[in-house]
Amino acid sequence: MTSMAQAPDIPEATDREPANIDRPIPLSLTAAAHQLLDSTPASATTCPDGVAWCLGDPRDHSDPREHLHKGPERTFSGPYGNGLLGFHLTQWDDSAPCVTFEAGGQWRDLDLDQVDQLVNDGAEHWAALRAVRAELADLLSGDQPGDSEPREWAITVRGGGHISGYLPRWADGDPSRQDVAPDLLGNALADLDICTYFEGAPLNVFCPSWGGDEAGVYEQQVLRGNIDVHPYSEDPERRQPVANLEVLDDFWLSDLGPEELADVISKLTTQVDRLRGVHTQLVQARADWQANA
Ligand SMILES: [Zn+2]
Repeated sequence: MTSMAQAPDIPEATDREPANIDRPIPLSLTAAAHQLLDSTPASATTCPDGVAWCLGDPRDHSDPREHLHKGPERTFSGPYGNGLLGFHLTQWDDSAPCVTFEAGGQWRDLDLDQVDQLVNDGAEHWAALRAVRAELADLLSGDQPGDSEPREWAITVRGGGHISGYLPRWADGDPSRQDVAPDLLGNALADLDICTYFEGAPLNVFCPSWGGDEAGVYEQQVLRGNIDVHPYSEDPERRQPVANLEVLDDFWLSDLGPEELADVISKLTTQVDRLRGVHTQLVQARADWQANA
């Protein structure tokens, strides 16, 4: 159920007491007013009805017909804006508690499913922002001389002749070769690999003894990989850019305490962010490949 905020006439922001800004707030709410909102007392009193998470603001409990229980409001602020995307727990008297969330100047009461949807959509939104950020960084760091020049790899054949093809900007190296014997040209083309690598998550993994190495805990790159294309592969799938993930097999992260588990989560989160960037890069690499190769 969506409890959309009704939009009654809104008095001037300066006339309103922050604690009463429960529902619609003017779009023009100033940064100063937001700071006022943010400075709503954190734990001034206790709730007269004994609601544990309620801040007990007397202004929310003064109406004998209806008490509004509100938890601490969380927002964030920075050079991009003030008091953004605020939310807090809310309960009107005996009705079900909900999360009240502010966006676009509107406060909305969200049930559990709606909060889940907000969290999921929000995660996608930030991922999209990261992708745009990467695009911006590329735009700002670009414009180096020769960047617009098309690049090519080339294989020269002993005794004369050469074969060349498109070498994308994202490639880490240049697979060009010189003086390839004519009878090895087929192999050289089949092996031709245009590639860019990305790092994995560095995790301390217990490894059994293998080869000359003793069993023990070693730092391993987990989920590292590359994007590559083999223009002359026998497999048509590999003649366009693909992503390859190297996952450790049969290795365990053992005996993790809460802090160690949190560290793993943090590293995997970073890796998931990186993979989102790799996904964007792969989509761009395919489009670029189809347009130019
Ligand atoms: Zn209360």
